[in-house]
Amino acid sequence: SEEKIQLITEQMKEDNIKFIRLQFVDINGTVKNIVIPFNGEDMAELFNEGMLFDGSSIAGFVGINDSDLVLKPDIDTYSRLSWRPEESATCRFICDVWTPEKKPFAGDPRGVLKKSLSHIAEMGLKYNIGPEPEFFIVDIDENGYPMPYDQAGYFDVEPLDKGPDFRRELTLNLEELDFEVEASHHEVAPGQNEIAFKFKDALKTADAVITFKQAIKAIVDNMATFDQMDYRVTFMPKPFFGVSGSGMHCHQSVFKGDRNLFSDPNSETGLSKDAMHFMGGLLKHAPAITAITNPIVNSYKRLVPGYEAPVYRAYGFKNRSTLIRIPAARGKATRIEYRAPDPACNPYLAFAVMLEAGVDGIVNKIDPGEPTEINIYELNEEERESMGIKVLPTSLWEAYHSLEEDPLILNALGSHVSEKFLELKYKEWDEYRVQVFGYEQRKYLDI
Ligand code: GLN
Ligand code: MG
Ligand code: MG
Ligand code: MG
Repeated sequence: SEEKIQLITEQMKEDNIKFIRLQFVDINGTVKNIVIPFNGEDMAELFNEGMLFDGSSIAGFVGINDSDLVLKPDIDTYSRLSWRPEESATCRFICDVWTPEKKPFAGDPRGVLKKSLSHIAEMGLKYNIGPEPEFFIVDIDENGYPMPYDQAGYFDVEPLDKGPDFRRELTLNLEELDFEVEASHHEVAPGQNEIAFKFKDALKTADAVITFKQAIKAIVDNMATFDQMDYRVTFMPKPFFGVSGSGMHCHQSVFKGDRNLFSDPNSETGLSKDAMHFMGGLLKHAPAITAITNPIVNSYKRLVPGYEAPVYRAYGFKNRSTLIRIPAARGKATRIEYRAPDPACNPYLAFAVMLEAGVDGIVNKIDPGEPTEINIYELNEEERESMGIKVLPTSLWEAYHSLEEDPLILNALGSHVSEKFLELKYKEWDEYRVQVFGYEQRKYLDI
């Protein structure tokens, strides 16, 4: 509304804003932006009409013969970029992407999530996600290879943990960017950290994940420049063989008004039927979902036994070897933790497909079966089979085929995104397939 635009304009003047970044993401979840100068002028046109741009060079967007698109800033996403100078400051708005006819553009990942969310909004439902992104801080050695930045482990403190300054700087910056950090700590592997945020509705959370990754990279880059060092942050799911990889577990719940649909104090487990069915849907569609939540070749080096990353399609209450864990919290905080996603995923697409799978479970009352409370890593194939436990895709190629064969998930993405996504992933797999690695050379040279 005009009033809101007025308020934001005032806020921007107060914040000394001189540059506006109009941001969106491509199909890979990579942040893109165009920057416009701001001198206090009227912004009604920008907010009402949006800004035309050429979408032809954006991954997964459009061909050069039909390339005009419109960035439509979401006024509720205003934030001053804390890592940019305070004088002549920079702010950003996250944008929806429209066609010149002012229709949502089918290739916009944010639009895909908004579409799924609007379906459940019709049923009066809200989808909440609390993500736990993990990442490594690495030094780049003289040959260009990453090395963990410190040798600390789970929950360690300084001097072993070299991360407190990073996490302090990051947490302060993130708070300025308006997010509520739930907790931060050193993770299991050397150089590995985690910053979990408070749960919010899925759209806000997806925006936050993007902001998080962008901010943390920019801040660490600034720190490295300041220290004249070559350290860097990486969201690569498995940067090092033989130690834990980085996941982005997603705690999720569905609310109807003020009520958590997943909670039922009268049931034996404290979980409602809807919660069970939501899990049933996730477990059923997990193979196709994995293509989206674990979208790169390297993602599958993380999904192996022994490192608290899921390998099997099962759920449990305390079990960290299962795909879904149900944390002990009950009542309003009742939630399920889907543990496959990694921080390389496009959060808009990832949340959309998880939601649609869960809703399929609720609508069609999909039974998740019995919980698994033993360490599945220790079972052999026969034992697993007798318990009916199936595995997740073991490679991007397998996940690709699972996605191709799951109409519900393809439909959640829409035909534009699913076609472009499959096309990109086919190329990515093919490029990888023909490479020859050091491991192979060492293993086979003398064969
Ligand atoms: N790093 C583990 C993973 O790959 C998770 C470790 C943890 O948070 N308990 O998912
Ligand atoms: Mg955690
Ligand atoms: Mg963790
Ligand atoms: Mg977790």
